[in-house]
Parts: sequence; C-alpha cells; structure tokens
Amino acid sequence: MSGTNFLSILTGSFSTPCADNPTVAMIEAAYRHHKIDARYINCDVKPANLGDAVHGARAMEWAGFNCSLPHKVEVISYLDELSEAAQIIGAVNCVTIRDGRLKGDNTDGKGFLASLKSVTEPKGKKVLLMGAGGAARAIAVELGLAGTSHITVINREPDKAEAIAALIREKTNGDALARPWEGKAQIPEDIDIVINATSVGLGDAEAMPDIALDTLKGGQVVADVIPNPPATRLLREAKKRGCITLDGLGMLVNQGVIGVELWLGETLDAEVMKHALQEIFGSHD
Ligand code: NDP
Repeated sequence: MSGTNFLSILTGSFSTPCADNPTVAMIEAAYRHHKIDARYINCDVKPANLGDAVHGARAMEWAGFNCSLPHKVEVISYLDELSEAAQIIGAVNCVTIRDGRLKGDNTDGKGFLASLKSVTEPKGKKVLLMGAGGAARAIAVELGLAGTSHITVINREPDKAEAIAALIREKTNGDALARPWEGKAQIPEDIDIVINATSVGLGDAEAMPDIALDTLKGGQVVADVIPNPPATRLLREAKKRGCITLDGLGMLVNQGVIGVELWLGETLDAEVMKHALQEIFGSHD
C-alpha cells in the first residue's frame, strides 16, 4: 500500500472531533499488513453537515464509513436500506456503499457477539446486562437474535432498561426483563454471562459498576465493553473469582473486521488489529 496513491480505496469514520480515534490506527495497521491499497480516514463532521458528508462519500466512491455519536440515528435518513439488526436497534454505525447505494448496519453488537463467541456460545444462555445506552441496546438485540434464553437488563434509569427489554421481547425470539439498579446489584446464581455495557471504567482503571462482587461465581463469563483501559477493575476482580473474562478490545477489533468485510470483502487479521490497539491502550494481562 502506498498511502500516497490518489486511487486508494477510501473508508473512514464520520465523527465529532476527538484527539485520537483508535480505529484509525487499528484498521490502517491491518491495511498495511495485508497490502490492501485502502485508507481509513477520520473526518470531523458536524451534525449540520452530515447529509453533505454522506453525499460526498457517495460522490467520491468511498467503499464505506463508520459513524459515531451523534450521527448514529440521523444518518439513517440518508441511507437506501438497513440491515435487520440496524432496523431493530434504530441506529447505524457502519455504512456500505455499493453501486451508489448506501446500506446501514450496526456492528457494535455484532463485534461484541463475535468476541463473546471466542469464549462461549450465547444460544440458550442467561445474561445480566448492565446499562441501557446505545452499546447495551445493540448488544441486547444481537444476543436476542443469537438465541439467548433470557436477558435481565439493569440500569439506574429504569425506563431505558424497560425499553430495551421490550425491544427484545417484541423484535427477537428472546425473552427479557428490566430491573432498576438500586444499590449494589446482586448477580443471580443462574446467570451465565455478565456484561458491563455502562461507561463505568472508561479512562479510570479503578472505577467499577456497583455490584456485589461476592455474588460473582467461578466459571461465569464476565465481559466488559470498556476498551480503555482494557483490564478494567471489574475484569480484574472477576478473574480473581475464577470467572472467564472478556475485555472491550475484542469488541472493537471485531467491529473493524466486520466493517472491512462489508466494505471490501476482505477479512483482516484480528491479531494485527489487537496489537495496534494494545500499543495505544496497553495490554490486558
Ligand atoms: P451511553 O451514554 O449511551 O450509555 C451509558 C450507560 O452507562 C447508561 O446506561 C448509563 O446509565 C450508564 N452509566 C453511566 N454511568 C453510570 C454509573 N456511574 N453507574 C451505573 N450506570 C452508569 O453510552 P454507550 O452505550 O454509547 O457506551 C457505553 C460504553 O461502551 C462507553 O464507555 C463506550 O466507550 C463503550 N463502547 C465500547 C465499544 C467497543 O467496541 N469496545 C463500542 C461502543 C461503546 P443511565 O442511563 O442511568 O445514565
């Protein structure tokens, strides 16, 4: 890959200004590794300019792009079609452009699921999902579509948890209920998979969701969406108690893998991407 070739395939991200988008380093490292003549460019797109940016990407024949908050819902009005998951979730973070048509997908939940499948098969499992924001919603929908037997959603703001539980019951074959998160959350005995989908732990290695640690059980899978730092306090505590832990790097890497498969039909080496992220965030162990 030359990086200076004007005909490089263009991919990238439409986001609001951020000092460092780790996805750029991760995907560009993989493009270099595979000698794919493509670039992944982070573009600062203000909400008022989103439509122009999307039309520009189509005009310049980009292969596709990610979009982050605050564009994930608004972008839908500029697309030609949506994947099933994106329709249910009601948000798009990955757009593929083919023959001038734009298709929206949501890879947040798919990236998480691919990572989860490296340690356990979700079908038939009981899940406790902490948080009810965008990441939790995407994860819950993919878990519902993947055949989990039950999802309990807990959140400080109970209406948001109930909205996700209702979505799972109505739009997937899965079952779900919501519980308010009051005081230290107890992990019920029969839960197979515990997921932190809150923002607690982001940028703070000592912050931890408010749970009763002594209710975690050896053998339970404990997953965190937080990529930075990857070794969150929740995962460190869970590991001490014999749980199988899964960090947020896997979710991020798999989102990149899935995005590039959609855009270019190429499967990138996940290890190369994980290594690029570890250079930025530090390693889990
Ligand atoms: P949102 O802002 O949509 O949701 C945040 C959630 O965290 C809400 O449910 C909120 O609860 C909860 N929360 C925040 N603070 C606390 C607290 N002190 N105690 C309990 N709950 C709390 O964010 P997103 O869903 O978009 O993102 C959540 C996290 O997921 C982020 O840290 C992000 O970095 C990470 N993420 C990781 C990805 C990856 O690839 N690894 C991909 C996408 C996101 P309430 O509603 O009550 O305020």
